[in-house]
Amino acid sequence: MTLDALAFGAHADDAELSCGGTLIKLARMGYKTGVVVLTQGETGTRGNAEIRAREFAKAAEVMGLTAHKMLDIPDGRVEVTWENKLKIIDEIRAHKPRIVLAPYWVDRHPDHENASQLVRASVYLAGLKKVETAQEAFRPVKVVFCQGRFEFSPSFVVDITDVQAQKMSAIRAYASQFHRLDQSESTPAPDETLIGRPEFLDFIEARDRRYGAQVGVKYGEPFLVREALKVDDPVTFFGSEYLWTIP
Ligand SMILES: [Zn+2]
Repeated sequence: MTLDALAFGAHADDAELSCGGTLIKLARMGYKTGVVVLTQGETGTRGNAEIRAREFAKAAEVMGLTAHKMLDIPDGRVEVTWENKLKIIDEIRAHKPRIVLAPYWVDRHPDHENASQLVRASVYLAGLKKVETAQEAFRPVKVVFCQGRFEFSPSFVVDITDVQAQKMSAIRAYASQFHRLDQSESTPAPDETLIGRPEFLDFIEARDRRYGAQVGVKYGEPFLVREALKVDDPVTFFGSEYLWTIP
């Protein structure tokens, strides 16, 4: 199945958190979107691989994805190896996305940093005919990096105002990950994780607000590209901005 945009995450829920609103928006615009997760979440603090797969499928439905898939790279051991690159190259060639969304290369979790490197290298390698896999050579036009734990100065921000509520629903599909209501607010559970903290969903909403504010809308998601952006017609491109022209 050919896709317009394909997001890669080290773990199920990474894409929902970092670019879920954009994926939902693209699907609503009629584009075909997908998420490929490198691991199956078997070493996650909460839940197990089976629960995570069910939650991933539910989130995929909420986001209106055309395709979603989990690879079998060991969770917590996402390493930059040729074998792992071949798995990702095969997914890129099978789905032929015009753009690929990847985790930002600086992160707290080593799986995220390695996933970033793996995806960037694989997008390039997928275009080389002599790198042989089950699929024929194909190279996406652009790799766009999504923000995780650490901030970057974005190349652009996507307005997700109309779909932010749906993004939060996709995140809530990972029910096993979240703060349990029977848990006290003040005493952390022994298995407490960042995403499991009661205020986690507020963090996500605040970040969407913060980046939305940078471009004059209610909610936004930040993205980074390594190359300079080419603009053919600055009058039309910047002329559609209204933020600074409000008298
Ligand atoms: Zn992750």
